[in-house]
Amino acid sequence: MTAATSRWNEYHTPTAVEEALALLTLHAERARIIAGGTDLILDMEAGHAPPVDALVDVTRIAGMTDIREEGDWIVIGAGVTHAQIETSDLLRRHAACLTESCAVVGGPQVRNVATIGGNVAHALPAADGTIGLLALDAEVEVCTLTDGQVERRWQPLLSIFAGPGRNTLGHHQMLGGFRFHPRAAGEASAFDRIMRPQGVALPVLGLAVWLRLDEDWQRIVAARIAIGPAGPVPFRASEAEAVLTGAPQFDASVLDAAVAAAQAQAQLRTSKHRASKEYRYEMVGVLLGRVLPVALERAGNL
Ligand SMILES: Cc1cc2nc3c(=O)[nH]c(=O)nc-3n(C[C@H](O)[C@H](O)[C@H](O)COP(=O)(O)OP(=O)(O)OC[C@H]3O[C@@H](n4cnc5c(N)ncnc54)[C@H](O)[C@@H]3O)c2cc1C
Repeated sequence: MTAATSRWNEYHTPTAVEEALALLTLHAERARIIAGGTDLILDMEAGHAPPVDALVDVTRIAGMTDIREEGDWIVIGAGVTHAQIETSDLLRRHAACLTESCAVVGGPQVRNVATIGGNVAHALPAADGTIGLLALDAEVEVCTLTDGQVERRWQPLLSIFAGPGRNTLGHHQMLGGFRFHPRAAGEASAFDRIMRPQGVALPVLGLAVWLRLDEDWQRIVAARIAIGPAGPVPFRASEAEAVLTGAPQFDASVLDAAVAAAQAQAQLRTSKHRASKEYRYEMVGVLLGRVLPVALERAGNL
């Protein structure tokens, strides 16, 4: 399909990964992947992304818009929208922190077209869906065209982040999907964020927790805490995770110690339109104090 505009000349709708990657390779730096377009088109209009010869729409590719169970994994195609995630019974059951984080992205119009792949590939450390996926310890599928063949490789989510707004993908690569393990007994997750009342895009701070309790539901034996923005790339509060998993039982003093550890490790900064560094520092405590008890209660109720 061709569309003569000042920002792109051709708009392609491939139905296979091979076809999409061949188009991207053909046009090299003069092509961009587009999914929902809610980040890319705005960036183009604002002059942050240069005009291109070709846009390659990846949302018509088979499997890219599926949510499915595959062996010991739950797999989400990169072209799955936030609305699909928010309303998926499978994900509500197994990945509450993800459904909760995707449910607050923009408004319904945005969530109906914006994808989880675009949220991750845009590489902002505060992106809500990304923070949900990080707490699930999700892996990302990177598809690469090499000598005419597509190689699909699963790798840790954080491995594709290069800095704020920058990912590590080359022009012959795209994201195929995400996967994580289903929820087992004693495991649960939760997400919450602080948003400016008039805010439409990124939060002041978002935080997701995943944890596993021991058989007596007394002790946290594994924990993951994802926070954004708390550094140049999405951030895992590993020091706070260690506090939670090292404690003989969970109480207020453990929560205080985990908050202090997360505050000390996070690289918080002031952003002009959203919040000061000092406010974000306080909000780390507020959010962890809110989200952790929810995840604990859910873990005990499975
Ligand atoms: C009004 C408004 C409100 C918003 N609110 C929020 C919010 O609350 N929270 C939040 O996190 N975000 C928010 N956003 C940002 C945006 O909606 C999300 O980041 C969205 O998930 C981006 O997905 P998309 O499909 O629209 O990506 P696109 O704009 O199509 O693409 C974004 C980037 O990802 C690349 N890309 C897309 N798919 C792939 C793929 N499969 N492989 C490789 N690269 C790919 C594109 O080339 C581009 O660089 C908001 C945006 C708007 C306009």
